[in-house]
Amino acid sequence: MTAAEVPNLVAGEDRPPATGAWLDKTRPGDGTHLCRVARSGAEDAAAAVAAAQEAHVAWAARTAVDRGNVVRAIAELLRERREEASEIVADETGKSLELARGETDAAVEMGLFVAGEGRRSYGRTTTASMANRTVLTLRRPVGVAALLISFNTPLPNVAWKAFPSMFCGNASVLKPSEHAPLSAAWLGRLCLEAGLPPGVLNVVQGLGPEAGMPLVEDERVDLVSFTGSAGTGRLLAEAAGRRLAKTVMELGGKNALVVCDDADLGRAVDWSLASAFSNAGQRCAAASRIVVFDAVYDAFVERLVAGVDRLDDVGPVVSEESMERILAAVAAARAAGASVLRGGERVGDAGWHVAPTLVEGVAVDAPLSCEELFGPVAVLHRVRDFDEAVAVVDDSPYGLTAAVHTRSVHRAMLFAERVAAGVVVVNAGTYGSEPHMGFGGVRSSGTGWKEAGVEALDVYSETQYVNLVVDPDLA
Ligand code: NAD
Repeated sequence: MTAAEVPNLVAGEDRPPATGAWLDKTRPGDGTHLCRVARSGAEDAAAAVAAAQEAHVAWAARTAVDRGNVVRAIAELLRERREEASEIVADETGKSLELARGETDAAVEMGLFVAGEGRRSYGRTTTASMANRTVLTLRRPVGVAALLISFNTPLPNVAWKAFPSMFCGNASVLKPSEHAPLSAAWLGRLCLEAGLPPGVLNVVQGLGPEAGMPLVEDERVDLVSFTGSAGTGRLLAEAAGRRLAKTVMELGGKNALVVCDDADLGRAVDWSLASAFSNAGQRCAAASRIVVFDAVYDAFVERLVAGVDRLDDVGPVVSEESMERILAAVAAARAAGASVLRGGERVGDAGWHVAPTLVEGVAVDAPLSCEELFGPVAVLHRVRDFDEAVAVVDDSPYGLTAAVHTRSVHRAMLFAERVAAGVVVVNAGTYGSEPHMGFGGVRSSGTGWKEAGVEALDVYSETQYVNLVVDPDLA
């Protein structure tokens, strides 16, 4: 691999695409050419699955402690190369180096957390109704895993799937986003350097329908683990479901941040800005709905608008198409009578920069309130009281995260009990996951599995119950 050309990584080797075709990858920050990327097809996907299948047996036979040590070595090497990794991510996504460094650190932390499971991986023992029996659980690898991911936080997105997958004894084929090919390719090679056997993590680059779908449809793939939009998730779950493969879908969100009448408004403004606009709003956990009690609405919005005016560059969105889609959605809301308080337009003419956008006067069931935009756009909703706030939060096809700002612990707990969300945050942003916390949403945000935490082990391994006769002579 050169910086200019990103081939596939199959069985530990660089492989140009069998299709002979390449994609151009541009820098979102200024629209300039960054590299060309393998535009893989079914043949490339099949070769990677074959490599994974071959590597799987020997890898699965190694002990969990041993596999954990390899994951630790990868995490430590990634920490050593923090700067190089972060520069690649900043270049291919357009995000700031500071943000990219934080993401590299998060990927390292995930590796260290997963590595520690090598000396835990606790199972259960239980009783049996028959005498002279004992029952215990074992974890078995699932087999070959296809990992399909989004571009938004490229290294953590890889780490959240590839590390627990390899730790659990699977061999994987990673299909990174066509918008973030370089960091995934780089990390794939870093894994080899740190001691991961060839074929345990393969990387197939390209477009979803061409390079990703063949993985999902391949009978040899036992697990399809996906992070991306609900629309794509639906397609993948349908295809994987036809052959009854295990599927894990980590999907989008339309996350709400609620500002109650007893909130610290300054803090609520700061967290709203961070939640709605950091990484240009390209977070599954971004706050794209801000729900504010009538009693403090005007004061809060005045301070929020002032905050938007003070914001530094929030970074570009990932592609021109994404930028056009976001601007069109805001324009449609405006045409339908919404007020665009700030933003709603492109910034500059180089790269794909959308101004941080605040919109009010949008119905709860209007597209701008319901559909995930994955950009720096937040919709404001004015509500009478707590009950209406909860009703608005829950009036959504999604249920990933939600936040509430209040000084009342009772309100905070009631909020957590009443809203349908995988993560609830009190007095901070709509995000707040860490490697040891299970993450995943309800409704169209996911299919019930959690990633990260020890819950990830349930995704990447199968629990087997062993029912053992203690003394056969007594049976
Ligand atoms: P996307 O659904 O467009 O793409 C995700 C991945 O799927 C990419 O690798 C893409 O190439 C592939 N893909 C696309 N169409 C495909 C098809 N027909 N067949 C097979 N593969 C296909 O999503 P995106 O724009 O990359 O990411 C943004 C989405 O990801 C948002 O909805 C965001 O909320 C979600 N996301 C969720 C989480 C989470 O943990 N829940 C985390 C990050 C991002």
